Amino acid sequence: RGNEHDLETASEKQENDGNGSRILVFVRLRPMAKKEKEAGSRCCVRIVNKRDVFLTEFASENDYLRLKRVRGRHFTFDSAFPDSTTQLEVYSTTTAELVEAVLQGKNGSVFCYGATGAGKTHTMLGTVENPGVMVLAIKDLFNKIRQRSFEGNHVVQLSYLEVYNETVRDLLSPGRPLVLREDKHGIVAAGLTQYRAYSTDEVMALLQQGNRNRTTEPTRANETSSRSHAILQVISLQISISLVCYITFLIVSFLLCHTQVLVEYKVKDASNMVVQRVGKLSLIDLAGSERALATDQRTLRSLEGANINRSLLALSSCINALVEGKKHIPYRNSKLTQLLKDSLGGACNTVMIANISPSNLSFGETQNTLHWADRAKEIRTKTCDANEVQIPDSETDQTKLLLELQKENRE
Ligand code: ADP
Ligand code: MG
Repeated sequence: RGNEHDLETASEKQENDGNGSRILVFVRLRPMAKKEKEAGSRCCVRIVNKRDVFLTEFASENDYLRLKRVRGRHFTFDSAFPDSTTQLEVYSTTTAELVEAVLQGKNGSVFCYGATGAGKTHTMLGTVENPGVMVLAIKDLFNKIRQRSFEGNHVVQLSYLEVYNETVRDLLSPGRPLVLREDKHGIVAAGLTQYRAYSTDEVMALLQQGNRNRTTEPTRANETSSRSHAILQVISLQISISLVCYITFLIVSFLLCHTQVLVEYKVKDASNMVVQRVGKLSLIDLAGSERALATDQRTLRSLEGANINRSLLALSSCINALVEGKKHIPYRNSKLTQLLKDSLGGACNTVMIANISPSNLSFGETQNTLHWADRAKEIRTKTCDANEVQIPDSETDQTKLLLELQKENRE
């Protein structure tokens, strides 16, 4: 509880103190499910003061109110959301600022993690009536772009991919597994579809279709796999060019169904356009963390032999190494950690949402999730600068013309 003051200021604004910024960590408690009630479960979690989570194995809600004090453990986070919290409240507190930063050309990432059934997909995707962070973020992005149309032309590109069993697949265009390649811009999934999005309704339909494409385990027919990670990447490109160039850009980039970085550079070469800002937002619905997030190195090693999610094990190793300030961070151990390298150790505003169930039947899983959430608070990412793409400095007529067109566009 000693660092409460630090947390308060950090939650208002992701602090920069020269050593980078801290990952913001939130916890969301979901309502008790009908099945859990029928199984006679009791509530073992309480949210106190909007930021503390109190976990106790023995007390019911009434015991807590009667005794005021029962044995258990307090955890403090940037915010802790009780089961009555709406999707919009979760979005506004955790992700809205990241969307604003993406428009400024800064990268951002939001992870949801927790055991299967804890509410990760509800938080990230939600339903048509009650959309989650992924849909609300894109809706907000479109609204903000509309409000600032005078600043230039914005293009929003989406890609949605899955990591299952160390295989990366395109959820918007299922087919052969994708190969990860490292180039000077980082790790990219070669051939990943970049979908150009125009409206929120279209995005919801697209994501639902993508989610249906997520791999299901044979034993859990019709259920989304608890072992697949889904990553939605939203790229915002802001371009200051004339209308004619803009239309050319749309046509050329439509033809080049490559990764965003390739599109950006090829387009620039092809028609001399100036992409001013590129911001990438990654929204990640992780696989169920049950059994996979070992709390110490010994358990970690013993789990490695078992048939459990290698990507999640690698993620816990990376978190351990980052928190301990190790020089070597083992990103290369799994596909997921390679893809998330930027978000964890790079220049990126990063948010984690830990999802938990209130039931004492999930006590062990909840304890494990809170342990990891607590540890993640200590990860620091590099200071996040805007990805500004330089305007060519040559004195060619074309450059002059472009600058004139930009001025005209602004006017
Ligand atoms: P996970 O993706 O972590 O396995 P889900 O998001 O699928 O879990 O949630 C499991 C069930 O609980 C779903 O039926 C979902 O609709 C419900 N649920 C989860 N979180 C909430 C919430 N905050 N409010 C209402 N229902 C929820
Ligand atoms: Mg899920």
